[in-house]
Amino acid sequence: MFRVGLTGGIGSGKSAAAGCFRALGIPVVDADWAARVVVQPGQPALEEIARHFGGAILLENGALDRAALRTRVFDDPAERAWLEQLLHPLIREEISTALNRSPGPYAILESPLLIESGQDQLVDRICVIDLPESLQIARACARDSCSGAHVSKVMAAQLSREQRLAQADDVLDNAAGLAALQAQVETLHNRYLQLAAATP
Ligand code: ATP
Repeated sequence: MFRVGLTGGIGSGKSAAAGCFRALGIPVVDADWAARVVVQPGQPALEEIARHFGGAILLENGALDRAALRTRVFDDPAERAWLEQLLHPLIREEISTALNRSPGPYAILESPLLIESGQDQLVDRICVIDLPESLQIARACARDSCSGAHVSKVMAAQLSREQRLAQADDVLDNAAGLAALQAQVETLHNRYLQLAAATP
C-alpha cells in the first residue's frame, strides 16, 4: 500500500496537518504512539532500560519515567545512542504492523524523527512541513508554555530545516493560517490518490 511519511521539527504543525488528512478519511499512524507502546510495562525494552539506567528510571507504578529518561539522555550522546539502538528498530516494527493494518487508499506516518530514526524506510514518499524557524519557536513556546531556549535545544537535536527539506518529495508551507494548510493538504491528497492508484 502507498505510504507517505509526514515530518517536520518541533511545533511545525505535524499534528495539525495529520488532522487534515484524517478529516479526508486517510488513516494516520503516529510514531509517538509507537514509541510509547514499545516501553509499556511488560515490554522487554522497558526491562532493558531499567537494567541499564537503574530502577529509579521507573515510576512507582512500574511505568517508565519518561521525563527522567529524557533528562538522562538529553546531554549524553553515548546514552542517547544506546537508547536509540534499542528502541528505533522496535518502534519501526510497531509502526510497520500498524501501517499494514491501515485501510487504504493510502496511509500517513506522522513522525518527528522520520528521517533521523530510519522510519523513512517504511514510506514511499516524504512530506515535510516547513515554516521559518522563528515562527516554529513562537508556536512551540505558545503551545507548551516553555522558553525559546528550550525549543532551540530540541531543534538542535533534530535535523536542520535545510537537511529536512533536502529529503522532501513534497513540502507543506505552514507559515500561513490553518485554512491555507488545509487547502495544501487537499491538493496533496488528490496527488496521493493518483499515486496510490498507480502503485501496485
Ligand atoms: P510537535 O512535534 O512538537 O508535537 P507538531 O509538529 O505536531 O509539534 P502542532 O502541535 O501541530 O505541531 O502545531 C504546533 C502549534 O502551532 C499548535 O499549537 C498548533 O495549534 C499551532 N499551529 C499549527 N499550524 C498552525 C497554523 N497554520 N496557524 C496557526 N497555528 C498553527
